[in-house]
Amino acid sequence: MLKYIEELRNKLHHHNYLYYIKDAPEISDIEFDQILNELVSLENKYPQYFDANSPSQRVGSSLSNSFKTFNHKYRMYSLENSYSLEDLVKWNERIEKNLGKNNLSFSCELKLDGVSISLSYEKGLLKKALTRGDGIQGDDVTENIKTINSIPLKLNRAIDYDFTIRGEVIIEKKDFAEMNKIRERNGDTKYMNPRNTASGSIKLINSLEVKKRPLKCYFFQIISENYNILNQTEALNLVEELGFKTLKTNRFCKNINDVFDYINYWDKRKNDLNFEIDGIVIKVNNLGYQKDLGYTSKFPRWAIAYKFATERAETKLIDVEYQVGRTGVVTPVAVLEPVLINGTKVKRASLHNKDQIEKLNLHQNEYVFVEKGGEIIPKIVGINKEKRSSDAKPVMFSEICPCPIQSNLVKIAGEAQHYCVNHKKCPPQILGRFKHFISRKAMNIDGFGIETIERLININELKNFSDIYALSKQKLISIDRMAEKSAQNLLTAIKNSISQPFHKVLFSLGIRHVGETVALNLVNNFKTIENLMNADFDQIISVNEIGDKIAESLIEYFDDVENREEIQQLKYLGLCFNIRNENKSNTLNNLKFVISGTFQEISREDLKSMILSNGGSVSSSVTKNIILIIGENVGPKKISKADSLGIEKLTYDRFIAKFKL
Ligand SMILES: [Zn+2]
Repeated sequence: MLKYIEELRNKLHHHNYLYYIKDAPEISDIEFDQILNELVSLENKYPQYFDANSPSQRVGSSLSNSFKTFNHKYRMYSLENSYSLEDLVKWNERIEKNLGKNNLSFSCELKLDGVSISLSYEKGLLKKALTRGDGIQGDDVTENIKTINSIPLKLNRAIDYDFTIRGEVIIEKKDFAEMNKIRERNGDTKYMNPRNTASGSIKLINSLEVKKRPLKCYFFQIISENYNILNQTEALNLVEELGFKTLKTNRFCKNINDVFDYINYWDKRKNDLNFEIDGIVIKVNNLGYQKDLGYTSKFPRWAIAYKFATERAETKLIDVEYQVGRTGVVTPVAVLEPVLINGTKVKRASLHNKDQIEKLNLHQNEYVFVEKGGEIIPKIVGINKEKRSSDAKPVMFSEICPCPIQSNLVKIAGEAQHYCVNHKKCPPQILGRFKHFISRKAMNIDGFGIETIERLININELKNFSDIYALSKQKLISIDRMAEKSAQNLLTAIKNSISQPFHKVLFSLGIRHVGETVALNLVNNFKTIENLMNADFDQIISVNEIGDKIAESLIEYFDDVENREEIQQLKYLGLCFNIRNENKSNTLNNLKFVISGTFQEISREDLKSMILSNGGSVSSSVTKNIILIIGENVGPKKISKADSLGIEKLTYDRFIAKFKL
């Protein structure tokens, strides 16, 4: 029976490929559905033949996605941007000098404006799909990705190496227009742009809903330790041969002048494409050179994105407001008459700092040009002087903090920004620090509304981060009229945040200049908070990618006795200040496992540490309250004992699928 089921699966994989990749179906949709229905009914009848990569798994499920976070096997860098051909000339010179070679050749590709995704395949099977996340860790969206028909769950071809493959999930223009037509008909508000809709879709909780979205995925990078591919052009061919969708528009450019031709060609034709692009990606073609060039802390040195000129719009300046960040930095923000740019409504634009206001020679209530590129924050790039009224007054940068304390702002030497240095008392800074602390990339405490935090700060219930962990349900309900269920959920989220790893805790403290990557480097190097607190300037700057500014900021932070006390308090509450004892999740809390037999996929040691790091425990004897994970060559006694006790048996695959590990 298993053989027959496998036959049906392979048949469906094959016809799926013909339909969605080759665009050359050999059977009708009805025939396809008949085979699929037969498979589904057999799989229901024989659950022991469950296969996470079966075509039946594409239909989605109403079970909620939990989007667990996993490390990327290979870090997912973003690309450096360039906005002019001169930028590219400079980039080319820089890498030629770096490599000591001239006349480099390149691979040019269209830069899709969608959501990046990283898939891993083992033994030809899709194992995991992660979002970019912070580049180091991403969210597991495998169940949602499986619903995209053009992504193979099983390769058509047997290959003997595992690989990671990267692509961009998009919604094509035609499909997007169709979606909006239906929404309009149903009286729903229309989606703003394909990119945001694609991005929202892959994070939907319910994969049945994702299935309904017309998502497509195009692939452009394959990484493996074991293939013998020499350049990006070959790599793209391999991607296609393995059965993935690729854009056929990539071009091998034998020198930088060919690159310019490619850019000019697509700059004229980009609006004719059925999908949105926001530029061109230029990669050094030779993979050996790519390796030699390596990476900065943010970008690969061997690739760059060329961004097409962005759309600009004219609108009226209504007011200038001042925002105070969590570190005290004060940013002037232009409040604008709302205007549509690239399908997004723009109401505010950053003015960056005092110098920028003076450079623009900004006057009150005048008409300004606003641009919004790929960046999240729109900016004012110029002024329509012809429309300026003769009595308009220049905008003066306010050197007083907008907070109730109204401290005088201070400009730090070497920085363009003004700061409110009353860090401990300035309310917007306190609020900003709490917002940062609870944010997803920090302690990830979901369900904490900004108003709630503000109210708690105002009544002095929140002064230090540790106060968060002392909040009670009664308090939350009474001060905020919060529903009991929401209060309970918030308290659970607070409790769960205690298991965040050390580098996230360090990042959460909001020490100036200590971002995510810096926190990770510090943690990997110093291992414990004590080592870091006791380190001197020279020890700190000896760490990879840590400079003077960061070291000074750390020393200043740890010199403050209140900060040291707060860290002790957080440590006492159980937050992790130590690189060891780190738990990945609590998924297996209170569950006990017995591992029996050997596994092709994983060593027993690794399986054991996987269980432990997700909160489970491992035992050696089969008793009533355990779950048995069975591999090959399991002792018959263990099986019969398990059967007589009626306990659950799982293969490795089912174990992974069941707990979404
Ligand atoms: Zn202030």
